[in-house]
Amino acid sequence: MGALVPKKPRSPSSAATARAPIAIGFVSLGCSKNLVDLQVMAAELHQGGFDIGVEVDEADAVIVNTCAFIEDAREEAVSAILGACELKKNGRCKAVVVSGCLSQRYRERILKACPDVDAVIGVDDLRRIPEIVSKALDHPRGEPVVAVSSDLPTHLFASKIPAMVLTGGPYAYLKIAEGCQHVCAFCAIPGIRGKLRSRTIDDVVAEAKAILAEGIRELDIIAQDVTSYGSDLKDGTSLAKLLRRLDALKGDFWIRLLYGYPAMVTDELLDVIASSRHVCRYLDIPVQHSHPDILRAMHRADTLKHVPGMASRLRARIPGLTLRTTCLVGFPGETQAHFDHLLEYAGREKFDHLGAFAFSPEEGTGAFARREEADDIVAENRRRKLMRRQARIVKSLLDAKVGTVTRVLLEAPPEEDGRWEGRTEGQAPDDIDGVTYVAGVPASARPGDFADVEITGHGDYDLFAEWRSMSGASS
Ligand code: SF4
Repeated sequence: MGALVPKKPRSPSSAATARAPIAIGFVSLGCSKNLVDLQVMAAELHQGGFDIGVEVDEADAVIVNTCAFIEDAREEAVSAILGACELKKNGRCKAVVVSGCLSQRYRERILKACPDVDAVIGVDDLRRIPEIVSKALDHPRGEPVVAVSSDLPTHLFASKIPAMVLTGGPYAYLKIAEGCQHVCAFCAIPGIRGKLRSRTIDDVVAEAKAILAEGIRELDIIAQDVTSYGSDLKDGTSLAKLLRRLDALKGDFWIRLLYGYPAMVTDELLDVIASSRHVCRYLDIPVQHSHPDILRAMHRADTLKHVPGMASRLRARIPGLTLRTTCLVGFPGETQAHFDHLLEYAGREKFDHLGAFAFSPEEGTGAFARREEADDIVAENRRRKLMRRQARIVKSLLDAKVGTVTRVLLEAPPEEDGRWEGRTEGQAPDDIDGVTYVAGVPASARPGDFADVEITGHGDYDLFAEWRSMSGASS
């Protein structure tokens, strides 16, 4: 994701200012969890009387919300920061503020590599953004403002109502927890975002109600691992309980679960999904690998008995389930035999969606000391091979959908070819899984409407469909 212009703020402006408000531009990078943090900052700025509806080249201050997950993400972030700093030389911009995982983790390096940056802000300090932007603008040539209150974040943001949704579509991300309780040997997230902190069910439900009242038709439940939700609270809070409460809300909408952990998927959770009215028959559960040696080396030994046969087990519990997973190849010590095991596993399990990543050594992780054992070229070749195998699986799964009738959430009206863009229950937003292009939709349709469509064909990952009827409320 790149430069982001909030279209229509969903929260009211409370501060009337005599002079023109300070204009803020956003560059949004990284995952949906990062976008939620940006929404928190945008809401604070809007409430503080700042103008948040401008392009970056029309902004007085630019906020670059960064990702630091892997080396590629850090490079993208530094290039976006340098691009924003150029605007200070050639445009209206007077201050560049860097937020997100990169500023939390590598603030000194950012300030050294990008001396024109005016402020860095940590992930515990998001709500201070109006004050930080004002300070950065007041001292354009002074020392940069460093607002990183803790090396390991501990804060948990309760909902602010009305909520601000910046996805640009009829869906919203609902972040139910911060941090992560696992210690996967390749992952820097627990060191950047801290330990698991879950919001209360009441707080999440209040935010969900406010978002649905704005006309949003899909709630995407996110966290580093949604299936661990509540385990830190020690009061019986769980994802299954949260889903029951959300499922009881009125209206016609979908709930989608993203990012689970194989060992944390309980029978109770599967029963709730199978019997719910609103929860999509969709799960995203990264297995990362199939071979026991590699799972142990990844510090994911607790998933050993959950990974084999996972897809068939889950599909038996939830008929019609769409299953996404993620695999990491080229982990230090991964032999050809380990990789062949993973290839066979993917061929057997036939995940509907599979993303493959090549190992990237991350400072502060268990695997960093073993980085010499990893070979970038071998890892990249294995990643491509796994994705080629998956492409064949996807083709046969999509072939089988042709001729079926399914429900689609209409998202974007036609531009040139007359087809609406929408998504089925099996397609998560933000181009994660592909989309469905629907022909023949009546002119009265609006983004956020549900329609029943017949699948007529497919591309590599997208579906093509013909409109049949508008789809009534399911609640
Ligand atoms: S579960 Fe996910 S976020 Fe947590 S440590 Fe493992 S890979 Fe990282």
